[in-house]
Amino acid sequence: MAQGVCNPVEFTFICPLQNGLHARPATQLAEFAGGLAAELSLTNLRTGACANLKSPLSIISADIRLGDQCSVRIAGAGDEAVLCALREYVVRDLPRSDEPLLEPVRTRSNGVLPRSLESASSNCYFGLAVSPGIGKGKAVVVGAMTLPAELSAERAEDPSREERRIDLAFAALRERIKGMLSRSMSPAETGVLKAHLAIVDDVSFSQKLSELVAKGRSAGQAIFEGGKFFIEQLQRSDSAYIRDRAIDIQEMCLHLLEKIYKSNLTIANIELHEPSIVVAETLAPQQLLTLRRQWVKGLVLEYAGATSHAVILARSLGLPTVVGVKDAPVVFPAGQELVVDATRGLVITNGTAAVRRFYEREQRTLERRRVALARHTHSSAATVDGHGLEVAANVSSSEEVELAIASGADGIGLFRTEMLFMGRDRAPSEEEQFLTYREAVRVAGGRSVIVRTMDIGGDKPVPHLNLPNETNPFLGYRGMRIYAEHQELFRGQMRAILRASAFGRIQIMAPMVSSLEEVLWLKSQIAELRGELERQSIAFDPAMRVGIMIEVPSVAFILDQLCDEVDFFSIGTNDLNQYFMAVDRDNAKVAALSNVRHPSFLRFLKHIVDDIHKNNKWVGMCGEMAGDRRNLPILIALDLDEISVPRSQIPAIKDDISRFSSSECEELFARALASRNVEQVENILRDRYSEDQPKSLLDPELIVVDSECESKEEAVRELIDLLYIAGRTDDLDRLEQVIWARETVYSTGLGHGFAIPHCRSDAVRANSIAILKLRQPIPWGSIDDQPVGMVILLAIRDSDLNNSHMQVLAKMARKLMNEEFRQKVLELNDSKQILAYFSKELEIPL
Ligand code: PEP
Ligand code: MG
Repeated sequence: MAQGVCNPVEFTFICPLQNGLHARPATQLAEFAGGLAAELSLTNLRTGACANLKSPLSIISADIRLGDQCSVRIAGAGDEAVLCALREYVVRDLPRSDEPLLEPVRTRSNGVLPRSLESASSNCYFGLAVSPGIGKGKAVVVGAMTLPAELSAERAEDPSREERRIDLAFAALRERIKGMLSRSMSPAETGVLKAHLAIVDDVSFSQKLSELVAKGRSAGQAIFEGGKFFIEQLQRSDSAYIRDRAIDIQEMCLHLLEKIYKSNLTIANIELHEPSIVVAETLAPQQLLTLRRQWVKGLVLEYAGATSHAVILARSLGLPTVVGVKDAPVVFPAGQELVVDATRGLVITNGTAAVRRFYEREQRTLERRRVALARHTHSSAATVDGHGLEVAANVSSSEEVELAIASGADGIGLFRTEMLFMGRDRAPSEEEQFLTYREAVRVAGGRSVIVRTMDIGGDKPVPHLNLPNETNPFLGYRGMRIYAEHQELFRGQMRAILRASAFGRIQIMAPMVSSLEEVLWLKSQIAELRGELERQSIAFDPAMRVGIMIEVPSVAFILDQLCDEVDFFSIGTNDLNQYFMAVDRDNAKVAALSNVRHPSFLRFLKHIVDDIHKNNKWVGMCGEMAGDRRNLPILIALDLDEISVPRSQIPAIKDDISRFSSSECEELFARALASRNVEQVENILRDRYSEDQPKSLLDPELIVVDSECESKEEAVRELIDLLYIAGRTDDLDRLEQVIWARETVYSTGLGHGFAIPHCRSDAVRANSIAILKLRQPIPWGSIDDQPVGMVILLAIRDSDLNNSHMQVLAKMARKLMNEEFRQKVLELNDSKQILAYFSKELEIPL
């Protein structure tokens, strides 16, 4: 309880709030004080910090925590009445002005950590892995305010003009927030907007800006400096909640700067000079595009869905990315060393030596797997029973076309041209675009390039187009809906594509089509432009194919009509799913609902593909669903003509296709369609993924002599890595878990320096023996307490009906009891010799 001690102009109280006087209670207190006709100040007697009681920002900056003694001073008319009113508020209302908040929780989304990482679990932050890989570097917090060079150098000739600019920006921002508040929204959203409004109305904030303008700063410089002043004060607080408010101030400052300079200043150039992990609340694709790619080693975002465009871009650039990490910009301060593990969906700070060794090995393993898969790169993909499927790439620049072809792309299924319009001051000219598209078809070397006309809007804003702000941009003015109004832009792009068609196999595709009328309009425009080019004697391919994306559910029910009008279709599952399931693709919170493996969505896809094929037209898929290897049996059974995926996935996808038979996929798909929920579909897919054609138990690829492992944990992991590189498992962590489950019950150290860890699990695709000969023996907890110099892993499939597990294990254990066998094995220092000896002695056919 707050205690009030009376005195004519001053009283003291003790802060009764669990989380201190943070934004919400401070805003309410300042609101109450604002209605009193007197000058009011508050001093935190613990720190001596003094605050204006009418300013929430000023109160927050005083860093008042639970139990801090504070003094309130009143100067002005009606001191006595004001004092009583305030005292009453402090005693009665203040304790109730905040619900206790919990510290941010770090939760693991799924799965278990490999043993070597468990020691690091206290420094792990969990999120959702959306672009695989491992990245290491120093945190760079983007979105933190950086003032562009031209604004730093700006000279303020007339302070009253600068004041006016600030006033106008404040008025516009206030209007905007009030407008948003007038719409119905959740209490949480209302709370945030009210806190933002309080910052905009804050007297200390505007006083600070006036002071700075009086000192000769321009409007922009004053907002930047003033904002920084408050941000730094709040960031000093021990309380995460108060530190969080720094983000609110930053956001308001950025809005004010945008209002004044009419451009998006969050895209201020951030210079990277060393391996960096970019940390942000959210990231616009153009922000990513402006960063120097050579130094960006990974992304950590607080808010982003698996199909946000920044994430799609990250995937196409091969950047390891984890999203949904709570409070990312606060918990990872700039400069901190981070590891982004976008295989498991975690971010690690302060990694130990064991963690570093783990990730170094993991990076080597990923690279060796990539090299192993390269053999599939340039062959066309077909299932074991000869069902072919084209695997094309999604790109957003002509440079990427070249990289995609080198990765084995059969063509370009989606060239996202809007990226050419982003991150710059004005649109590229027709000529510039023509050169880009011509270069794309040139490097594609006769393969088809599907160029999608600009898909601006949604989460792909292009500031120089000055499109209106929208409450619901994904349902608004985006894709082909803007073409009619932006004729010059649209026609310039169309002409550029048509002209490039004279140089290779280009196809044109329109985004966000929702009706037949739009298609007819598009065709009439193309016909007109063809006529124009003809009159100007400019070459183009008269047979260039025209297609549309299937992203809006309405088109799925007029496919017969559309098939009469267009040559092909490509299913954009990112948007199709968000509109079909009514789930914002950018919102990590509802990501689970937007699962493309939902039976209803699968039925919808089947309807679409069947209808198009009934009308003898071609249909591909270019949404992110196509690039997720788990979905392959579905994509094969759907009988798509092509899938278009991030280039980094192409070799693995081609390899996977060669392991499936189309009849099996059809049977799986029938079961998936009949499933009742996503989980059932995922189980069906997971089970299939672990079956494979028979392979020999032994393979030279699975033997390492001179291993440098330093511990049991490392040895187990290295054996699993060998199975992964050889394509015998994709589920490394699950396999490790099963091995340790057995190992913790009893040690598999048989004595005499040998250990035989073993497991039964369908996490391996084929029964396997992997062998490590260690450079230095390691402790294993063996029955004779001797360290182990040779580790032999036996991994048998759960569904193996021959009981090979027990047979091989028993035979091996018997052999190891024989000194002559042990002696001979220890003498062999070549994997081929070891293979031959094991094969002979254990009677294992190769
Ligand atoms: C899609 O919606 O699936 C698609 C490929 O388009 P984008 O992701 O660029 O919106
Ligand atoms: Mg789309």
